[in-house]
Amino acid sequence: MPETAPPAERVASCECGALSLHVTGDPVHVHGCTCTRCQRSTGSVMKLSAWFAETGVRIDGPFTTWTYSTPEDPTRTACFCPTCGGGRFFRSGDYLRGTIGIAVGGFADPAFPAPDHIHWWPDRPHWLGHPLGPTLLEGN
Ligand SMILES: [Zn+2]
Ligand SMILES: [Zn+2]
Repeated sequence: MPETAPPAERVASCECGALSLHVTGDPVHVHGCTCTRCQRSTGSVMKLSAWFAETGVRIDGPFTTWTYSTPEDPTRTACFCPTCGGGRFFRSGDYLRGTIGIAVGGFADPAFPAPDHIHWWPDRPHWLGHPLGPTLLEGN
């Protein structure tokens, strides 16, 4: 097997462990966003999301849902563990239809594929330096 082949299965889980997402194959897309909304949503400097084909995702455990609108995706449904609030994933709506977006931090995997690009780079915290690799975008 070549070194670049994805592992047979990756598992993302919430902090308390009640909710986990089992995925097969590599993500179809990975990107970061440093907009102020994503800073609020994550409580951190960047939201990092990976989209997987819905057919390759198995959800194991309870979750709470929240449906909301963003300019690029008017019908997005976010899901997260009702106990600890972690394990966030979302049904993508109009952006990459047929996929499920998963918060990359849940994989806690230093070898996870890097983001293709990072949106809203000018909104990042002033001390956050330029990462190597991803294209840095001024907006969406
Ligand atoms: Zn939890
Ligand atoms: Zn954002």
